[in-house]
Amino acid sequence: MTANASRIIAIALCVFAACASAVAAREQGRPEVSAAPVTAGPTTGPAPHMLRVYPGPVSPATAGRAVAWWNSAGARVRLAITTNKTKADIVILPDRRLPGGVVGRTRVPCWVPCRPFGRETITLSPRTDYPRLLTLVHELGHALGLNHSPRRHRGCSVMRAVGDRCGGELPAAVPTIDRAALLDLWG
Ligand SMILES: [Zn+2]
Repeated sequence: MTANASRIIAIALCVFAACASAVAAREQGRPEVSAAPVTAGPTTGPAPHMLRVYPGPVSPATAGRAVAWWNSAGARVRLAITTNKTKADIVILPDRRLPGGVVGRTRVPCWVPCRPFGRETITLSPRTDYPRLLTLVHELGHALGLNHSPRRHRGCSVMRAVGDRCGGELPAAVPTIDRAALLDLWG
């Protein structure tokens, strides 16, 4: 399969998820939080992979919180904010209205789950009916190479295809299932 074909598939996945999330966020009840405790990053072995994020239109506070949240999972991959767009691995593009009620979209150059090997872009909608921070965290999960969490999972996950079941707020700790997916990919 070519990289180009994979990219198209990855985009389709994200469009579906973001659209579904916007609907489910209005319909779901209180959260069923199943969060793993925050752990320190790896202290031995090879240095973590670094992925630089150019936040574009996202406020420094929101971008910083999303990046720190994923970094708290303790996987051998780290996100870092950069002001140098040309050297960024993940570029957040200007907000743009997305069709079909979609609130966010990520272009990933491989078939998730995978370790992305090229520049990725995230586009957020200016819609305000779904928390922007949660949308960004979900899309950054794709940019880290994550797929959606399994449908059968009943608890909180920021990578759910339908809603997040996290109560509309970012969980204090990375949920177990999301952390496991990140560690499976990056160690
Ligand atoms: Zn998605």
